[in-house]
Amino acid sequence: MIIKTRFAPSPTGFLHIGSIRTALYSWLYARQNNGKFILRIEDTDINRTNSKYINHIFYILEWLGLTWDEGPYYQSSRYDFYKDIINLMLKNDLAYKCFCSIKRLSNLRKNYYKNSEKNIYDGFCRNKQFNYNKPYVIRFKNTSYRDSVIFNDIVYKKIKISNMILGDFIIQRSNGKPTYNLCVVLDDNNMNITHVIRGNDHINNTPKQIKIFESLQYNIPIYCHLPMILDNNKQKMSKRSGLCNMEYYINNGFLPEAILNYVIRLGWSYFNEEIFSISKMKYLFNLNKINKSPCRLDNKKMLWINKYYLSSLKYKKLLIYLKPIFEKKKISINAIDNISEIISYFCSKTFLLSEIVDYCNLFVDKKINFNYKKVKFYVSIDIYDLLVFFLKKISSNIVWNLININNLIKLSLLKFNFLNKKIIFKSLRFFITGKEETPNLSIVIYFLKKKKTILRIKNSIKYILKYFSNIIIS
Ligand code: GLU
Repeated sequence: MIIKTRFAPSPTGFLHIGSIRTALYSWLYARQNNGKFILRIEDTDINRTNSKYINHIFYILEWLGLTWDEGPYYQSSRYDFYKDIINLMLKNDLAYKCFCSIKRLSNLRKNYYKNSEKNIYDGFCRNKQFNYNKPYVIRFKNTSYRDSVIFNDIVYKKIKISNMILGDFIIQRSNGKPTYNLCVVLDDNNMNITHVIRGNDHINNTPKQIKIFESLQYNIPIYCHLPMILDNNKQKMSKRSGLCNMEYYINNGFLPEAILNYVIRLGWSYFNEEIFSISKMKYLFNLNKINKSPCRLDNKKMLWINKYYLSSLKYKKLLIYLKPIFEKKKISINAIDNISEIISYFCSKTFLLSEIVDYCNLFVDKKINFNYKKVKFYVSIDIYDLLVFFLKKISSNIVWNLININNLIKLSLLKFNFLNKKIIFKSLRFFITGKEETPNLSIVIYFLKKKKTILRIKNSIKYILKYFSNIIIS
C-alpha cells in the first residue's frame, strides 16, 4: 500500500503557522514512508475564496520546500464528479431530498431548544417520495441512530461519538453545491488518501465523514488530529491573528528552515533536542508521538531558532534570502561597497533577516535627513566642537581598523571630559548616522569607511551651523 497524505487548505486567508504544521507533518509522513503528498485546494466557498490566497499557498509551500507529488486539485472544478456520486447515493437510498421549509426547520429548532435537546433533523422527508418543484437540500440517510461512530485517532486514540447527534446531515445545499463533509470524503477516497492529518478543529466532522465512507463502502483512512495551537495571548490561533500569519514571518525576515524547525516542535518533541534539519526531521519525526495537549506559540524561541539558522548560513544563500527584503525596503545593494563584509558580520549578531537589512541601510551612500525635532536634543556648541575635533582626527593619516577608531573615540572622550560620556557617544552616533540607536559606534564607523564618515561629519557640521544661524535670525 502506498502511503498518501494530503494538505487541503481553504484559500480564505493567508496560511498561518497551524496550517504549516499540518502541511509539514503530512509531507514528512509521506516522505518517511516513500509515499505521496497531495495538494488539494478546497475552494468551494465562493464568497471567501480569493486567488491571492491560492497563490500564497503555492508560494509558501515552495518557499518552505514542501513539494507536492500530485495536484493542485481544485474542488471547484470537481462539481460534476461530486454530482454523479450524489445521484448514485439518491438512487441507492443512501441519501434523500428534503423539501422542508426554513420555517418548519426553525420551529423544530425552537422546540429542541425548549426541551434542551440536540438540534438534529427529525427525518420528516426521509421515507417520502416527493416530487415538488421547489427548492430542496439533499440529506445523508444516516443508519441506525442507536449506533456510535468509533474511530482510533493517532493522537487522541479511541473516539466514540453517538450517531444520534449526527442525524441526517446535509450533503448538498439548496443552491446545488455539495457540502464540505461530502467533498472531503469523495476526494479522499478518489485520491486514495491513507492518512488524514489535520487540525483538531475537524474532529467533529470526522464521524460524519466516516458515516459517508461506510455507506459508500469506501476504505476509511487513518485519522490524525493535531492539537490546538494557542497564540501569545493564550487564544486559539486563527487566520486573522497577525502574529501567526506567514506574511508576518516572511516580511520580518524569518528563514524557511527556522519556521519548519519551530513548527515541528509544536506538538512533537524528541528528548530535549531543539534543532532539527530537514533530514533529521525525516529520520526522527514520529506521527505516533504527537502530544495531544494544546501548545503555545513562543516568539522568543522562534527568534532564537532563526538566529541559529541565520548564523550558520553561507553568504551566497543568505544573499538570496536578503535580496527580496532589500527590494521591499527599496535599498540598493550596489550603494554599499563593502556589503559582503557588513552582512557577514551582522548575520551572526541578529535574529532576523530584516535586522541585517536595516543595519546595511546605515551604510548606504546618502545624505542624511535629520529629524528636526530630535536635533535639538543633541545640538550644542560643545557638540559642534566635538565634531570638528573628531573630523580632524579621523581625517589624519590613520590605518583604518577598529583599534584606531576606538582610540580616536577615547581621545575625544578625554578631550571633552567635561561632557557626559553617554552624550558624546549619542551625539557622534546621531550626527554620523542620523539614528539614535545603532550597533556599536566603532563598528559602524569602521564599516562606513573613512571617506563616507568624513563626508557625513562635514555635512553635519554644516547642518549645525545652519541650525544655529536659523535660531539667531528667528
Ligand atoms: N479545508 C479545510 C481547512 O482548511 C481542511 C479540510 C481537511 O483537512 O479535511 O481547514
